[in-house]
Amino acid sequence: MEISPDKPTEIEICSASVFYGKERILENLSLSIKEQRVGFIGRNGSGKTTLLRILAGLQELNNGKVLIDGIEVAKKRKEAIKKVGIIFQNPDHQIIFPTVGEELRFGLTQLGLSKNEADLKVIACLKQYDKVDWFERSISTLSQGQKHLVCLLSVLLMKPRVLLLDEPFTGIDIPTQLKLEHYLSSLKQTIIHVSHVPETFENYQRLIWMDEGIIQADGSPKTVIKKYRTAMKNYDEKTI
Ligand code: ADP
Repeated sequence: MEISPDKPTEIEICSASVFYGKERILENLSLSIKEQRVGFIGRNGSGKTTLLRILAGLQELNNGKVLIDGIEVAKKRKEAIKKVGIIFQNPDHQIIFPTVGEELRFGLTQLGLSKNEADLKVIACLKQYDKVDWFERSISTLSQGQKHLVCLLSVLLMKPRVLLLDEPFTGIDIPTQLKLEHYLSSLKQTIIHVSHVPETFENYQRLIWMDEGIIQADGSPKTVIKKYRTAMKNYDEKTI
């Protein structure tokens, strides 16, 4: 499952705004991303998930546009699903089929593969992770961490150039998290990762701190984490 982009993926968010009713979630956000490992950090409700949704083309914008390698993801859906894969915070919101094999096959058939072609790829992928016995397995028998792995594999099988992760380790035990982190660090495609846990991003190339839909800091994880921690501490002291 090696993915080696011939050139870096280019992500452009151009003056993007999202409102729910009168509530501003993102306003006039512009960002250009070429790095392969980028994190977004911020308090709950700061707009991080909304940002991932606009990158996946799943969220309607009130203004602006999002381009991935020049493709407007909200408008060119068929091309977008080849370019971008998203893993939601809760695997139960992502998984739709009763068995692992069916779940993994689905994305591939959406890309135009026949059932047989898709199954060959699914079995090869499961073999690679020593999970070939999962093919017939009922999703309901899997742990949360194992379900996360199914979501991750289903997205990876589609070979997107950009992988969007929304708090992918929530509710996962430490050994499973370490295993998933190992899988992810071996991947060559762009990863945009949302979390409120600063340590997650220590080895990333770029970290962006968001609050109330606005970028508060953008740069090296070391610098941004320091600013973020100081702000959170001051915020805490003000609210106690
Ligand atoms: P984060 O991922 O940083 O926790 P979100 O992007 O999920 O933030 O949410 C940002 C804000 O948008 C929050 O105030 C949330 O309540 C609001 N929000 C998210 N989805 C909806 C929705 N479908 N309808 C109304 N408000 C929403």
